[in-house]
Amino acid sequence: MDISYIINELGEDREHYFNAVAPPIIQTSNFAFKKVEDMRRLFEDEYSGYIYSKGMNPTVDILRKKLAALDEAEDCLVFNSGSSAIFAAVLAHVKAGDHIVSVKKPYTWAQKLFNVILPRFGITTSYVDGTQVENFEKAIRPNTAIIYLESPNSWSFELQDLKAVATLARSHGIITICDNSYCTPLYQKPIALGIDIALQSATKYISGHSDVMAGVLTGSREMITKIFKSEYNTIGSGISPFNAWLLIRGLRTLPLRIQKVTENTRPVLDFLKAHPKVESVVFPFDEEFPQYILAKQQMKNACGLISFYLNVKKIEEVVTFCENLKHILMAVSWGSYESLIIPGCATVSPAEYDIGKASHRMLRLYVGLEDPEYIIRDLEQALNIT
Ligand SMILES: *Cc1c(COP(=O)(O)O)cnc(C)c1O
Repeated sequence: MDISYIINELGEDREHYFNAVAPPIIQTSNFAFKKVEDMRRLFEDEYSGYIYSKGMNPTVDILRKKLAALDEAEDCLVFNSGSSAIFAAVLAHVKAGDHIVSVKKPYTWAQKLFNVILPRFGITTSYVDGTQVENFEKAIRPNTAIIYLESPNSWSFELQDLKAVATLARSHGIITICDNSYCTPLYQKPIALGIDIALQSATKYISGHSDVMAGVLTGSREMITKIFKSEYNTIGSGISPFNAWLLIRGLRTLPLRIQKVTENTRPVLDFLKAHPKVESVVFPFDEEFPQYILAKQQMKNACGLISFYLNVKKIEEVVTFCENLKHILMAVSWGSYESLIIPGCATVSPAEYDIGKASHRMLRLYVGLEDPEYIIRDLEQALNIT
C-alpha cells in the first residue's frame, strides 16, 4: 500500500461527514440505538461497532486503520500512552507463575512492570544482553510466555536481530513484543520481520508536536481483538477522540518530518564527532557503531537520537554545558519539532557524581526540525563555555 494513500485517504469516508477534508472529532462517550436487536449485537461484540467510546470510536478508528497499515499489520489499538500499551500487551499474555525474557534495560516503565508489579503475581523476568540471539535461547524456560524486545534501545541503541529472535520464539510457542518507538514503522517493520506485537509510543514521532501522549499496539486481528475484549476495555486507557484527531494530523507530515530529522542528524553527528570536548558518540547508523551491519540490514534508516560523552574533568562541566544551551531544551521525550537534551547526571544526586562513570558524562540529544546550523551553533557555544 502506498504510504501517501495510507496517510491521506485510508480509513476516511468523507461523504459521511459533509465531504469535509479534515475528519470530525466524534467527541461522544456513547452511541444511541433504534433497535434492541442492534444494541444486543453490540453488547455481544463491542468490537463490531459503536456503543461506548471506551471501546470503539469513529475518529479513533480512522487512526487505527492508518497505523495498522503503516506497520503492515492486520489490526491496531491506540492507548492514552505508550506505557499503557506496554502494560496491556504484556498483561494479555501472562498468567501467574509465567516467565518473561526481556532485553536488558528496556523502557523505564516496562522495567517497573517486570520488576515490581508482575512479581506480585509470581511472574518473573530474566534480562539478557540482546545483541546475541543465543542469550535469548539460553534464557528460555518451559514457562516462558513472552520475549520482550526494544530495538534500538532509546539511550544506547543496542539492537536485537528481530527476525532471528522471532523465529526462535515461534519455535517455542512464545509471544514476541517489540518496542519500535525509535524507528517508527517508517524505518522498521517488526511485524514483517515476524514479531507478534509491535508497540510504539506515539507521544514521540507520530504526534510530532509535543502535545499528545499516546501508545500503539499492532498485530494480528486475533491478538488485537483479544486484547480489546479484555485488557483494553478493563484498563480503560484508550485514546480520547481529540487526541486521536491530533495524531491523524501528526501522521499527515510524518514522512516529511522523519526525512528532515534524518537530514539534520548527520551534520550534528559529524560536528559532535569532530569536537575535542566530545569523547565519543553513539548512533546506530554511524560506521563505528558495534552493530552497524545489523542496523543497516534491519532498519531503513536512523535519525534523531544521538548519545555522546563529554571529555571533561568534572561532572559539573556537564551541568555547565547543559545550562548554557540557549535553544536546545533540557527536557525528556523526543520525536517532535524541537531539539532536546537529557544529561545522564540528572539521574543521580551531585554527591554521587563520579567522573569515572561514563553514564554521568553522557548526554542524549534529540535533533529536531530546526536548521541544523542553528542546532550546531547552540552546541558549539555551550561547549566553548564548558
Ligand atoms: C517514551 C517511550 C515509551 C513510553 O511512552 P509514553 O507515551 O511516554 O508512555 C516507551 N518506549 C520507549 C522506547 C519510549 O521512549
